[in-house]
Amino acid sequence: MITSSFEYHKPENVDGVISLLTEWGDDARVIAGGHSLIPVMKQRMTDISHLIDLGAIESLKGISIDGGTVTIGAMTTQHELISDEALAKAVPLIREASLQIADPQVRYLGTIGGNIANGDPANDMPGLMQTLDATYHLTGANGNRTVQAREFYEAAYFTAREDDEILTAISFDAPSGGYAYEKQKRKIGDYATAAAGVLISVKAGKCSAASVALTNLSDTPVYCEDAVDALVGSTLDDLAIKAAVKAAVDASDPVADTRGPVEFKKHVAGIIVKKAINSAVARA
Ligand SMILES: Cc1cc2nc3c(=O)[nH]c(=O)nc-3n(C[C@H](O)[C@H](O)[C@H](O)COP(=O)(O)OP(=O)(O)OC[C@H]3O[C@@H](n4cnc5c(N)ncnc54)[C@H](O)[C@@H]3O)c2cc1C
Repeated sequence: MITSSFEYHKPENVDGVISLLTEWGDDARVIAGGHSLIPVMKQRMTDISHLIDLGAIESLKGISIDGGTVTIGAMTTQHELISDEALAKAVPLIREASLQIADPQVRYLGTIGGNIANGDPANDMPGLMQTLDATYHLTGANGNRTVQAREFYEAAYFTAREDDEILTAISFDAPSGGYAYEKQKRKIGDYATAAAGVLISVKAGKCSAASVALTNLSDTPVYCEDAVDALVGSTLDDLAIKAAVKAAVDASDPVADTRGPVEFKKHVAGIIVKKAINSAVARA
């Protein structure tokens, strides 16, 4: 199918985007890489009269690492996340997770901002950003504000972003310690049946800090506070890891679909979370 007709805009700065969004409201939508938006437009699942291309806005692109703080422009592609050596050195978790998204063709165009803002529970970046406790930078008609990744997702395709706002950048502190992003999928290029991001820090033989978040195991990404509680303070022994895995599986709320029934997804979630924790512990 082809899309219904729309007017195409390509502003050169963020102010231009915001004034178009303010003018056209719900009839307008920004487009980044188009790899999630164009398919739904072609299927006529969404009717957009004004498409605002973010591709010409230089301030939305690039990766900077200042001290321990990493800032990534919303229009940075997944390919750029993988190929940036400084980022891979500072936060190897990003490359590990990005390499598991779709395929090279999608990653050349798909952006971190589109992946995050879309609100699709199957997207990998939201869970990854919750693992990293990232901050999202939004700009809209009322100025700039920030929202934590762990507070951004409200339901499938519903986020804390207002209609007249765009995501401009993502920032987070580069984590130290062990890390892992594990994903089970049906085939190369597929969305996750279940995926998990884990961070583990160890001091004097005990887990001093941890983070555990899930992808595609609920209608939003899931930050697993109880799993973190089970790990922190423990010696990361089998009992603690077992308790963390159980807490993460209990926090998941998958739906039955072409990737399998609920019981199967919960079973896969348990395997994936255990694998991710064990990898992160081994690297810590
Ligand atoms: C075959 C295939 C397989 C895929 N597999 C995976 C996978 O395994 N894992 C995964 O995570 N993703 C997967 N994707 C999705 C892909 O990563 C998308 O590119 C990504 O989710 C959306 O990024 P985009 O830049 O293409 O955004 P677009 O499609 O341009 O936009 C998506 C949505 O976000 C909004 N948006 C975009 N940028 C902004 C912004 N800066 N501020 C506010 N709103 C914005 C748009 O208005 C739109 O509603 C797959 C896609 C395809 C086609």
